[in-house]
Amino acid sequence: MNRKTFIQKSTLLAFGASSLLACSNDNNKSQTNTTVIAPNIHTSKSKKYRWKMVTSFPPNFPILGESANLFADWVKILTDGRLDIKVYGAGELVPALEVFDAVSSGTVEMGNGTSFYWSGKLAAAPFFTAVPFGMNAQQMQSWLISGDGYDLWKEAYAPFDLIPFLGGSTGVQMGGWFRKEINSLADIKGLKMRMPGLGGKVLQKAGATAMTTAGSEIYTNLEKGVIDATEWVGPYHDYLMGFHKIAPYYYSPGWHEPSGQTEFTIHKPTYESLPADLQEALFTASMRIQAWMIGEFDRLNSLYLAKILQEGKVKLRTFPKEVLDQFRVLSKEVLEEVIEGDEMSRKVYESYRAFQKLSNPWYDLTEGAYQKLIKG
Ligand code: CA
Repeated sequence: MNRKTFIQKSTLLAFGASSLLACSNDNNKSQTNTTVIAPNIHTSKSKKYRWKMVTSFPPNFPILGESANLFADWVKILTDGRLDIKVYGAGELVPALEVFDAVSSGTVEMGNGTSFYWSGKLAAAPFFTAVPFGMNAQQMQSWLISGDGYDLWKEAYAPFDLIPFLGGSTGVQMGGWFRKEINSLADIKGLKMRMPGLGGKVLQKAGATAMTTAGSEIYTNLEKGVIDATEWVGPYHDYLMGFHKIAPYYYSPGWHEPSGQTEFTIHKPTYESLPADLQEALFTASMRIQAWMIGEFDRLNSLYLAKILQEGKVKLRTFPKEVLDQFRVLSKEVLEEVIEGDEMSRKVYESYRAFQKLSNPWYDLTEGAYQKLIKG
């Protein structure tokens, strides 16, 4: 995939993209009813199901779009063809940001995207994708699989007739591309940076102007100076966008998106009507996608980071301590505002925060210490 194709596909803003999706090929009035082919209704094992899955990612979008196709393939194999899911990329059946409603209403059986996009409908939603200074991908996965996270996620989605499933994670993202070096908080003031979502709210509080530029427009806006900086995903997707050609400073860490958990959603009554073995197949495929995506992001980000460094034109930087300290304080304020007056998000936030507090010392002692050790 070349840069142009990638940018065309990137009309969807990866993560926190919510407000500005350009892919709104609105043909959602086409036939979307469930088709159940039941050659023999007497045994549940012979009943065949044909589902539609709509996604918030462009068709075949690197890793994020590919995961829906893989999921459908695996489910088909696991169920010996009894559950056949046809995948529609963003805009093919419904626009990217209408996935939640399409599945919630039962118009289609399944969706794929990130919970972050539904913040306007559900204040607790961002906690199941990423929050500034929150948990990394491994901690998130632990909270979701072994902690209270998944039960809370199901509880939060239940009023919408949705069941969530883990859909993979980007891992910690990068802090973004800057045309000028950031040496102090003064350099943040007045900075025009593309950063949607909660991270953008933090930047705004720090005196910057946070923009929600659509994916397809970021490169041109950065090149022309309409924006001074942008975040996107990580070295792989960022390289495909070509940011390294026009913004020399590449910052870490992605304090605003320490994980990028994605989701599959299934219309709850439809899911509950399935035989138990098909339900299990969906869960199994979701777990495999979760593992696959983290592996794929880590492999390709490592490869493209090496490529960027080898080309020698990009200057890798870490944000100054005073900047990160200030972002951390402001992030807490932003999160307090999110949960204010919303019982569900308060409940989720308390569980999330408690899990993070519990696991941080363990990570410092092990992963953190080990990474420092092997760096030498
Ligand atoms: Ca991002």
